[in-house]
Amino acid sequence: MSNTAWAIVELVDLQAVYWQLTFVNDFVVSHEGEIVSQSSRQCSTAIVLNTCRGIFYTDSEELKAALSVSAKLYKFEVSIKEIARNGTILELNRHVCELAEESVIGIIDGTGGQSTEFIQALCDILELPHVTIKHNEIKENSYILNLHPSSMAYNMVMEKLVARKEWEEFTILYLKGYSLIRTNSLLKLNTHNDRYVVTLRELRGNDYRDVLIGAKESGYVNFVVDCPQENVPIILKQAQEVGLLADEHSYIFVSPDLFTLDLERYRYGGVNMTGLRLADFEENEDLWNFAYNFNKEFVYAREADQLTSEILLIHDAVLIFSKATEKMKYGLQRPEGLSCENGTSWNHGSSLLNFMKTNKVDGFTRTLTFNGHGDRHNVIFDVLELTPAGNQTIGTWNNNNLTISRPILAGSDIVEETIMKNRTFKVLIATSAPYGYVKESSDQLEGNDRYEGFTIDLIEKLSEILGFSYEFEVELEYGTKDPQTQKWNGMIYQLMEDKADFAICDFTITSLRQSAIDFSTPFMSLGIGILYKTPSKQPPEMFSFMAVFSKEVWYYMVLVQLGLGVIMIFVGRISHKEWQNPVPCIEQPEELSNQFSFANSVWLIIGSVMQQGSEIAPIALAPRLITSVWWFFTMVIVASYVGTLVAFLTVEKNVLPFETLEELYKQKSISYGAKSKGSTLGFFQHSPNPILAGMYKKMVDNHWLVGTNDIGVAKCENETYAFFMESTSLEYYKERHCDLLQVGDSFDSKSYGIGMKKGSPYKKYIDYGLLKLKESGEIQKLKNIWWKEKRGGGKCGIKRDEEQKQLGLKNMLGAFVVLGVGCLIGLSISVIDMLWGVFKRTVKYNTTFKFELIEELKFALKFSGDIKPVKRHQKSQDSSDSVAEAEAKDEIKSLQHITRIVPNTLVLVWLLLNDVNTADIGDKQLVVKS
Ligand code: GLU
Repeated sequence: MSNTAWAIVELVDLQAVYWQLTFVNDFVVSHEGEIVSQSSRQCSTAIVLNTCRGIFYTDSEELKAALSVSAKLYKFEVSIKEIARNGTILELNRHVCELAEESVIGIIDGTGGQSTEFIQALCDILELPHVTIKHNEIKENSYILNLHPSSMAYNMVMEKLVARKEWEEFTILYLKGYSLIRTNSLLKLNTHNDRYVVTLRELRGNDYRDVLIGAKESGYVNFVVDCPQENVPIILKQAQEVGLLADEHSYIFVSPDLFTLDLERYRYGGVNMTGLRLADFEENEDLWNFAYNFNKEFVYAREADQLTSEILLIHDAVLIFSKATEKMKYGLQRPEGLSCENGTSWNHGSSLLNFMKTNKVDGFTRTLTFNGHGDRHNVIFDVLELTPAGNQTIGTWNNNNLTISRPILAGSDIVEETIMKNRTFKVLIATSAPYGYVKESSDQLEGNDRYEGFTIDLIEKLSEILGFSYEFEVELEYGTKDPQTQKWNGMIYQLMEDKADFAICDFTITSLRQSAIDFSTPFMSLGIGILYKTPSKQPPEMFSFMAVFSKEVWYYMVLVQLGLGVIMIFVGRISHKEWQNPVPCIEQPEELSNQFSFANSVWLIIGSVMQQGSEIAPIALAPRLITSVWWFFTMVIVASYVGTLVAFLTVEKNVLPFETLEELYKQKSISYGAKSKGSTLGFFQHSPNPILAGMYKKMVDNHWLVGTNDIGVAKCENETYAFFMESTSLEYYKERHCDLLQVGDSFDSKSYGIGMKKGSPYKKYIDYGLLKLKESGEIQKLKNIWWKEKRGGGKCGIKRDEEQKQLGLKNMLGAFVVLGVGCLIGLSISVIDMLWGVFKRTVKYNTTFKFELIEELKFALKFSGDIKPVKRHQKSQDSSDSVAEAEAKDEIKSLQHITRIVPNTLVLVWLLLNDVNTADIGDKQLVVKS
């Protein structure tokens, strides 16, 4: 048996009751328990006592409550029997047969599925009208009325909706064990037409997340959900958890009760949800009364639009019986002696059923008419869509026709459909340039036309996106909190007290203000800057030629020269060619001399910097290379210096009397101020920094504050006055007052936002609109118009920066790098040269390499003594060889030595690797001794 809730309602034939009452009682007890006179009973059949007996599952509270309320409404007495949810067919059989024996005239069946089939079979035998409220497939020629719309009706709506949404791919999500009878025509789309891609996904168990994740990964974004209403909340919840309810996703729910759920949490996600509704809420007072009574009966209060179709259909079922029995009361005979055992049936059953089929009744689920089979004829559905503004009826299904009164929106478009639409808001503005101005016009302007400016255009753009209207009101005070009364004034007060909806101007977002009102997402960023008059030009300073290079460059140049001096000495001392015979006429000198003394090296370096040269000329390769690189370096440096020097010596500079806040604070002759009651002043007021706090005190004590930015700017121009102003406004005034400039950089960072009441429901829409405008570059466009073009923009043109740019380390880095690399190469060459010399001496004097190397380095690193004794020179008086010839011979010897050593070493390595002890090399034998 089906596990769904079910109800059997027994309706006692009112005729029988009437007869009973006539014979048995003089008085009739109404359902309200009042004693009414027989005469009143006779004149009004409406109060004839009927009984409505219902059988429900113990937990079907809603349906029980619905039956009670409906019974009371149509003057039935209600009597409810309860059965366990897991009742058996036998139990069901017993109940139906008992009811038949008790002469009921019809059965309202709330079960569905197999149970309905079973009841239907019994009712067919007994010829008792059987009214179902759940979705069932009914057999032909049965004694049944199906109040729930037929599968055919659902199939037709679904097909039309899918076509209307122009879906070519979609996934049907259905519950395991639940037939796809309401959507099978969608499945056929796939087979009939290649254009459609229809996927089926079965939701199993209690956790549908795996299936939903699979659906998400497939990349398809359109879904038809066909499952019982009780499963919809969990499917929605889990779909949201796996990210399947985003902007791009679109759903059609087959259940006619989707919109009885609280969909608040899905409203703003951008998902498009379309569903159907059976009930007609439009001006349906009876339905609202029913909901009121239902709430009195049922523990959980529900709004009328939260009543499910099953609840409403219970009402409609009772209504159908009520109307039929009312109209047929004299033509019906109470069923007598009906029994399941002997197969008797009720002769009047078919008349009652046929009457009910044709009798037009207006129920809560609209007009109840039926076709010959007992299916509802011409079902009317409302088509609803979930939008951020709530549930909206977008069309109807009537006469087998889908009429959409508003285009079905894409997910992202829905976001624009807001609760702000068609509403008029009061917007506070300030006449503060360039955010808001009073328009200059020869005509008499009225309403919003009186104003123009950046924020006026911004609100206009927002209203286009969000569909609202607005009225401006000028408020010059933005809002400050009185420290005594703790009360706000100005715009903040107006917003807090609901006297206005939004405030838009150069409204700075501060934490204090945010404690009282909400701000939208920022639409402009800024900081505080100092506006000051451009000072008169001053002739160049005495040492301006030094300013060509930055300090670092000078420091590095001195360092480089010292470093290079040391390198030159070292390289000179280790390069053996630099050791020359000081007295050329002596062929075999005792000593050699080296020109790279400290003085000579420095002289060589400075001589080239000064472009004068010197007589010192390097002989060996390494010193020559290093010297060449140095010359290149000096060439670059000198050319750069000379090229820039003229500008430094001639350009007159604006010499500001202060460049930082500290310097301004120390100035005695310059007054400074900010806009009173503005956030700029608040910055100084609440700063823990002693300088800023001191400045605040001075500004207040000396009455240096001004009422508006315009006054501050005028003071700047005409007095020795520095004005603290927000960088955005500063930029605006600089464009129009060419004698003003910003001193230094901005020294804090904040933003402007649109102010609104705390917890305003419009904040998210305003944020959304602002983000859209930012992303599309509209805000920047408006800024360019109001800052640079309109109202005198572009007057000062582009101010050319006449100040010559000092050459810093960054500019000269390349030359330093070339010098560094050149020195490294030179050093490497000289080291190789030194090692070669050391090696030659090793061979010549038969000493070790290490010994000679240490000796050489010791001498080189002494950095003193530019005379070197010619060590152990060849004593051969009679030899006519010069020292040079001797050295040349030495070199040949060394080379011979190398040519012997290298093959021997290779052979030795080969012996060791191959574990062999002897090898023949020419006429010699090499023996490895362990
Ligand atoms: N934007 C400021 C405020 O919101 C006014 C201008 C200023 O203080 O510099 O109060």
